Amino acid sequence: MSTGTPNSQLNGSKAGSERMLRLAGHVEVWFRSAARDLPWRRSRSGYHALVSELMLQQTQVARVLEKFGPFVAQFPSAASLAAAPEDAVLTAWQGLGYYRRARLLHAAAKAVVERHGGRVPVEDHAALLALPGVGRYTAGAIASIVAGVRAPIVDGNVTRVLQRLAAREGSASERAVSEWAWSEAESFVEVAVDPAAANEGLMELGATVCTPATPRCVACPLSRMCRAHEDGRVAEIPAPKVRPVRKELVLVTVQLIRADGAVLLEQRARGGLWGGLWQPPTMESADGESLSPTVAAERLAIRAALTRVAVVPFMTTHRSVRFIVFRGHIRDSGASHAVDGRRFVAREDLASFALSNAAKRVLLAE
Ligand code: SF4
Repeated sequence: MSTGTPNSQLNGSKAGSERMLRLAGHVEVWFRSAARDLPWRRSRSGYHALVSELMLQQTQVARVLEKFGPFVAQFPSAASLAAAPEDAVLTAWQGLGYYRRARLLHAAAKAVVERHGGRVPVEDHAALLALPGVGRYTAGAIASIVAGVRAPIVDGNVTRVLQRLAAREGSASERAVSEWAWSEAESFVEVAVDPAAANEGLMELGATVCTPATPRCVACPLSRMCRAHEDGRVAEIPAPKVRPVRKELVLVTVQLIRADGAVLLEQRARGGLWGGLWQPPTMESADGESLSPTVAAERLAIRAALTRVAVVPFMTTHRSVRFIVFRGHIRDSGASHAVDGRRFVAREDLASFALSNAAKRVLLAE
């Protein structure tokens, strides 16, 4: 990867290279007038790019727009993020989901401090790739967009645009399609005059014009070069993803409420589903649907009479979860329950605990 002039040793034929050159040119010109004003585009700092890219990995832009500003205000540098306790990082991450990314971002900030003196190594693609949570896409995005490195980037948006441009069949989840897309993206950025505008423009085009269900071909700067458009096959390319079957999971959980309204919480073990997050006492139970309140109380080590109040379904990417929710009330201080890391938390203090969306739904279940 380089930051110099376009490489003359391009992949593919001369005609293919010329086509890429025209594509990159159109995308760069279009992006300069069509780019959305997003907060992480204003400063172009390596740290802001790292935070925004990790946030955007599995979360919609609209949600990231809400969380990015407060997050970088609370942790304005890699050093401040590295020095923060994990609980504070997880709490600031609330609303973005997939908390594993928060932990990886925290670890990446520590690595940036230890290995690079607190400065994200934006020009060094290999050093970026070595950071926790930074894969080929994220390293390419940071290096090309912040430092103009000719590093390719491929995400779902880019793959869709490239597939339609070339009328390449198949699903983005197929390995052969992914490898082809990376090769195309490499050829594309190699000939770009401005690698940052070309790469970011291609992603933007996929996000705002060449959308999955309703692409706006009439507004597309590439429509004259698009084979799927020319062939009338836009709706069938790419092929839909084959979704993995979700694993079924039954969790038994209890809202234990003290006389002053405080609720009992526990912290999940690190790693795995919702690792390190807080929740009402919960356990996995294959026979959870048929558990009596007495047995549920025994298994969860709750010394109170329980009533079954609700069943809360919850979907994650890989699991279909059913929460069997019980409720109990206690009149004393609850000291006998505040063991093994469990603690009573006042309702008004819940916002300062990193709770998964599932745990929030369970706490609100009636
Ligand atoms: S012409 Fe249509 S299908 Fe082709 S790249 Fe543009 S928006 Fe996508």
